[in-house]
Amino acid sequence: MEIQNLMSDIRKNAIKRMDKQSPSDLAVTWTSEDLLYSGKGNAVFIIIPTSGCAHALSESGGCTMCSYIADSPLEEVSSEESARIFKNLMERHEIKPKTAVKIFVSGSFLNEEELPKEARDEILKILNNEENVEEVIVESRPEYVTEEVIRECCSLLPDKIFEVSMGLESSSDYIKKYRINKGFSNEDFKRAVGVIKKMKNNYKVTSKAYLFVKPILTSEKEAIDDAVASAQYAEKVGVDRISFCPATIHKGTLMELLWRRGSYQPPWIWSVLEIIKRVRSSSKIPVIMDTSGFGTRRGPFNCKKCNKKLKSLIIESNLNQTIPEEFECECKNRWAANVEFCDVTRSTCNITNK
Ligand code: SF4
Ligand SMILES: [Zn+2]
Repeated sequence: MEIQNLMSDIRKNAIKRMDKQSPSDLAVTWTSEDLLYSGKGNAVFIIIPTSGCAHALSESGGCTMCSYIADSPLEEVSSEESARIFKNLMERHEIKPKTAVKIFVSGSFLNEEELPKEARDEILKILNNEENVEEVIVESRPEYVTEEVIRECCSLLPDKIFEVSMGLESSSDYIKKYRINKGFSNEDFKRAVGVIKKMKNNYKVTSKAYLFVKPILTSEKEAIDDAVASAQYAEKVGVDRISFCPATIHKGTLMELLWRRGSYQPPWIWSVLEIIKRVRSSSKIPVIMDTSGFGTRRGPFNCKKCNKKLKSLIIESNLNQTIPEEFECECKNRWAANVEFCDVTRSTCNITNK
């Protein structure tokens, strides 16, 4: 209960401090190279503002590392407006062959309270008419994954892969509950993956697990071990892809509060490499490592000499699904010492990467 009360207060304060922005101001899009199920291709990322993640807006206050609520206008966005925003953002791109469209609603695409069904249907119809789009990827908490909703979505995209990404974050229910405040358990995740597996008989539907690297109150060593164990668990449950999100410090979160007090640091990039090595050497499904925020003050960090090089090696390895080549830098010994000797937080550890 304590973490929920804390999160609820932090969230209320963060919301109070937010400047009000219109849905169109908050809508963002960009493109990049990406790995599709059919091989290397392109991704179009689209953020559609909605009323905000129901978990973050509930009394629970949401997850300890997440500030997606800051991307929300915190008011109802009509179906027409959401669909219009989506259409306008899509029109900014020339959709090349082999494209995946990744839609972020700063919450759950499948929750009709956040994104009305009419808007969802309209968006999927627009995508179905885009010949070069192979995959449509959305995010959702597991509680909104039902046979009915998957059927509704997939029927509108008969020839495209429809992927539901769920933030499992960790396979440890303890970590989910006490360090992330996730509000669901492995059982809930397993049920949702089960629904998707069953629907594969009729539709091109897939599931992806997002795994979070280094929640609060977690040592460097535990973060590595938990990430590896979580990937093994997600694969065993039957997801089709895994995407790791190494921690970056977002504004207005409990993670930021601890970081400001010296009780939390994002992971070393060496830890991220270690996770890639261990997971890719045994996994049979695609494993992606997100590199957002790498080398910044608020993100995963090694030292100024090697941050950039390692980031580009990881990006390249995502596209080829290889284990990045060995690389040495003088900061590696400090990382190894941190993994070996530093306990739960780094407040008492002077072997840091910053
Ligand atoms: S991580 Fe997902 S579920 Fe958690 S608060 Fe953020 S948007 Fe909501
Ligand atoms: Zn270095």
